[in-house]
Amino acid sequence: AAPVSLVAGMSRMSRNHIVVKSGTAIEKIALTKTVAFDKTGTLTKNQLKLNKVKLYADINKDEFLKLAASVEQNSSHILARSLLKEVNHDTLYPVSNLKEITGNGVIATVNNQEIKVGKLDFVSLNHPELSLTETAIHVAIDGKYAGYLTFSDQIRPEAKQTIADLKALGVENIIMLTGDDRLVANKVAKELGINQVKAECLPIDKINHLKAIKSDNRPVMMVGDGVNDAPSLSASDIGVAMGATGATAASESADAVILVDNLAHVSRAVKIARRTMNVAR
Ligand code: ADP
Ligand code: MG
Repeated sequence: AAPVSLVAGMSRMSRNHIVVKSGTAIEKIALTKTVAFDKTGTLTKNQLKLNKVKLYADINKDEFLKLAASVEQNSSHILARSLLKEVNHDTLYPVSNLKEITGNGVIATVNNQEIKVGKLDFVSLNHPELSLTETAIHVAIDGKYAGYLTFSDQIRPEAKQTIADLKALGVENIIMLTGDDRLVANKVAKELGINQVKAECLPIDKINHLKAIKSDNRPVMMVGDGVNDAPSLSASDIGVAMGATGATAASESADAVILVDNLAHVSRAVKIARRTMNVAR
């Protein structure tokens, strides 16, 4: 394409709060027929509301919340940030031996107890039979399953229209890639009209799915938000970071960054890229 029109396309993108890092990225965006979305924080709002606390151990609710929040206090995960909004930071316990395991959760020592927070199978393999339809943080204390906190994960108001717009633009494959539970993922996907869902993905699974999708030679776009999305943004042909949420790591590995917290700019980017390439040809 003529460089001049690519520059014009980039400035048109930037007027729409989309920073595109190269002219090549515009060409790829124009050609994409596959867009993969992360769920939590991308298709859904980047803050979840604490809903329910269910205890399976002999501990009071406030103490349970305080323990979980103490372990999560340094995590940048969206569930951790959402939980921390609900508790008084001044009363949190000091923690030691803190280790965050990407895509799983956090483990730490608090008051001489080993506390694990995160995914059900990560915190304890010996847990009650649960089938939750809401995003949850599970907690185990000294290896014993202790309970969970559920959060309502609200779909972004513009998400459904964005998906419909992409389909109308001829983007044939819309895929959800998420680390969240299958039931939760399917519920959100159904509401949005997304029929390809890969749930319970570890970061490496997301990358493998992206590689598999890529095999048809058309560029694949991945839209994500969090720090934990950086590897999948790099693994796609066009990584798009929703950058307004301070996801610096995600932005660095992205080809394009959306500076406003609004998904509609994803379909807008495709529109602008197509127009740019038409002018260029
Ligand atoms: P997504 O793909 O939906 O953005 P992630 O890969 O970040 O999800 O995480 C997958 C799952 O791992 C989450 O749904 C959650 O259950 C668990 N998890 C990961 N990190 C944390 C954390 N810091 N606190 C609680 N749960 C976590
Ligand atoms: Mg996410």
